[in-house]
Amino acid sequence: MNKYVIELRWDPILGEWVMVSNIREKRPWQPRGGCPFCPGTLETGYDWEVLILPNKFPMLMLKPPKPTKHHKFFKVSKAIGECKVLIETPVHDVEDLHELSAEQLTKILILLVKEVKKYLGIKWAKYFMFFRNKGKEIGVSLTHPHSQIYVLPFIPNKVMRELKNSRSYFKRKGRCLFCDVIDAEKSEGTRVIYENNLWIAFIPFFSHWPFEIHIYPKRHTQLLTDLNSTEIKELALALKTVLCGLNSVLGKPMPYMMVLHQSPLKGNYDFYHLHLEIYGAFRSIGKLKYAASMEHGGGNFTYDDVPEENAKRLREAIKNCMI
Ligand code: ZN
Ligand code: ZN
Ligand code: FE
Repeated sequence: MNKYVIELRWDPILGEWVMVSNIREKRPWQPRGGCPFCPGTLETGYDWEVLILPNKFPMLMLKPPKPTKHHKFFKVSKAIGECKVLIETPVHDVEDLHELSAEQLTKILILLVKEVKKYLGIKWAKYFMFFRNKGKEIGVSLTHPHSQIYVLPFIPNKVMRELKNSRSYFKRKGRCLFCDVIDAEKSEGTRVIYENNLWIAFIPFFSHWPFEIHIYPKRHTQLLTDLNSTEIKELALALKTVLCGLNSVLGKPMPYMMVLHQSPLKGNYDFYHLHLEIYGAFRSIGKLKYAASMEHGGGNFTYDDVPEENAKRLREAIKNCMI
């Protein structure tokens, strides 16, 4: 056995990759000493507003070791890729992104777009996954505001499902599935929580998580790099408003996961429509929704209220946000 293992293992039953790495096991819950994301460490230095650093506990590497080879039946692959941390502000004590200025949020998004651009021409880079985990309730070990980037050598499973369904919808109807979902949400209206000129946010009809929010650009577009500067600015505003609402709707900061769903970096995915998904994890005050046996073992979610009610609560909370 290698001293350490970092590789992709193929699950032939579900037809998906699992990222295996024991480099990560040494991850401390809270690092001893100071915050590794504050300015002034060897890695962070000074004079930055937004900073991208390599993840010290990566699941993927630019030069991964050879995968374990003694398997007759099972398939493995090189864990080529990159895992990075995006530090969203030099200020340590920020509860969530809505506390940052719209200008700072715009800077974060601009840096992110630049980062996506870097990988468009790199052959192994199939997918740019941007995500944010927030709150100790869902296991976030570092409180300094940060999000993460995984540049993947494969298309993640959930995006694969979205691509498959939207491709077949487009073939049948000649329209974008996501555009039609946006239209349907707009015309029903009961689940829309925020709208500006260029973006719309709603708790979808088929919401999985209690406070699941989808944010869509109204223009049919696939990759973050397709967005123009006005769209970026308005997205910053949408995020600030929506997260303010999310953090006040239960009178207590909301733990959540946020992911960017965009098209793969190469190929033609005209039928796809980029969006952000936020999974607010509290059902009610202090009550966490767990993805447990039904959700993980069966793959189907249970929703303990109705999305329309939570959307109403969220709309009210957003009204009280002074943006
Ligand atoms: Zn810090
Ligand atoms: Zn569309
Ligand atoms: Fe999605």
